[in-house]
Amino acid sequence: MSTIEINTPTEARRFACPDCRSGATVQIIYGVPDDVLRTAADEGDVVLGGWLTEIDAPTRHCRACGSEWVDADEYVERLHSS
Ligand SMILES: [Zn+2]
Repeated sequence: MSTIEINTPTEARRFACPDCRSGATVQIIYGVPDDVLRTAADEGDVVLGGWLTEIDAPTRHCRACGSEWVDADEYVERLHSS
């Protein structure tokens, strides 16, 4: 079981939920997930948004209150390069 560091303290502030201010937010991934993303989703590190990418679709999901909004980051790129 791998442990993936999602949010550094800096990122936790940057990506804090606009509704409840929780730092427990994750990126929403669109497209067909590969094994890395499936594992991350199983462990709750990302949310899979479906196979189709919609324009202006939300890219952050709050695990505390369920709110979703648009705020891109490079988490997936880091995930694949680690
Ligand atoms: Zn929230």
